[in-house]
Order: sequence, then C-alpha cells, then structure tokens
Amino acid sequence: MIFPIFTNGTLIGPSYIEFLSKNLNMVPIISIEGTAVGTDQRRGQGVFHRAMQSMELLRQEGLFFGTSITVTTENYRQVTSTEFIDQLRTYGCKIVFYVEYVPIDAGTEHLAFNDEHVAEMEQIMQSRREAYADIIFLSFPGDEKALGGCLASGRGFFHIGPDGSAEPCPFSPFSDSNVAEIGVRKALQSPLFRKIRAAKALGWEHTGGCTLFEHKDEIEAMVPPVGEIDN
Ligand code: SF4
Repeated sequence: MIFPIFTNGTLIGPSYIEFLSKNLNMVPIISIEGTAVGTDQRRGQGVFHRAMQSMELLRQEGLFFGTSITVTTENYRQVTSTEFIDQLRTYGCKIVFYVEYVPIDAGTEHLAFNDEHVAEMEQIMQSRREAYADIIFLSFPGDEKALGGCLASGRGFFHIGPDGSAEPCPFSPFSDSNVAEIGVRKALQSPLFRKIRAAKALGWEHTGGCTLFEHKDEIEAMVPPVGEIDN
C-alpha cells in the first residue's frame, strides 16, 4: 500500500528524512504552483525556496519523491512544457501529479478546465509519457476516465486529512471516521464510504472533471449525524 504524502515541504528535515528512509511506501509529493512567484503568491513568501531545499535533501538521500502542481486554464501549457519538466527532472522529481483546479471560490470558474482543455491535457500527457521514461505523470482527475471513473472512497484510494480523518477524496472533504483511531481497514468500511459505493455515486453523471465535487450536497447529506458516528 502506497501513501503519497502531499505537503508544501516546509517541515522536511533530518527527522522526516530518517522516517521516510525507513518507510519507503511513504512518498513525499511536494506541492508547487509552477514558478517561484506563483508558489509564493499562493503559499506564502519563501515557500518555493524551502520546497526546493526539501527536494534537494530528498534527492541527496536517494529517496523517491515527486511534485504536485495545480493546473488551471492559465498555467497548464507552461507547467507541462518540456522546459519545465526538464527543470523538475534536475530537481530529482520522479512523479508529477497534475491536479486540475476545482473552482471552490466563486468567480474563479474561468480557471477550471472545460472538455477541450481536458482533451488537450490528455494529448500532452501522452506525449510527455513517451518522452520521459524516467518520470511518472498522473493527471487528476483526467486520467480516471481510463480507469473507469471516480476512484474515491476506497475504489482506488481515499484521502487521509491532517488529523487522520478518512475522506472520499481531497475534492470531497467529508468524513465519518478517523484512521488514527480505527485503522485503514475499518475506515474503508465506514458508513459514508459504503453509502457512496452503494449509491454508485462514483459513476454519477457530471459535466466537469470531478464527480463528487459536482454532487457535493448529496455526498454531504450521506455523512451520518455526529451522534451516530461510531468509530
Ligand atoms: S472525487 Fe473527483 S477527483 Fe476525487 S476521485 Fe472522484 S472524480 Fe476524481
């Protein structure tokens, strides 16, 4: 079982390096926004530089790691360009997650992909996979089409929040169980995950990239009331 750890990388130091060296199925995925300016604007001053330091530390230790980049209609060509990927390769990244922007904030809908962007991204991914045999490229949720649709709620994976809460997916941050308390096996059988799978919610019709985000009200309604949550 592989646990990609999505992080801004600012806490990676000697103790984490030691932990990661002993637990090779924990794979750090350091999130950046493409450029230094874009990263610092979204994540705070100096975060890009710190992320680069962490990548260097991981590279020196020979640890397997990757990066995650939010793709929008404004940046997708730049962050999938061969120049940019060559740069990621020099940093030592072995996996690149491209995560499509989900317009959580009103007024940012223009940043989200439409069908043409999704189709173009698919083509770009195919060509980059052919050109870079030493890097794994994952486009999310774009690649899920080839895997039969939404992979949330344990169909392919689930998301563990910073406090241990088991959520269907980062784009569907609802929870009724905590892996720190009940473990992974039991969390996979949580009432919420079972309801989502039984409702065949993972195959629901949707127009954008993300099934559960588009049906977030129905998913939220499936979360048992607090008094009924039994961990
Ligand atoms: S909730 Fe959205 S992003 Fe998450 S696995 Fe399903 S379709 Fe993909």
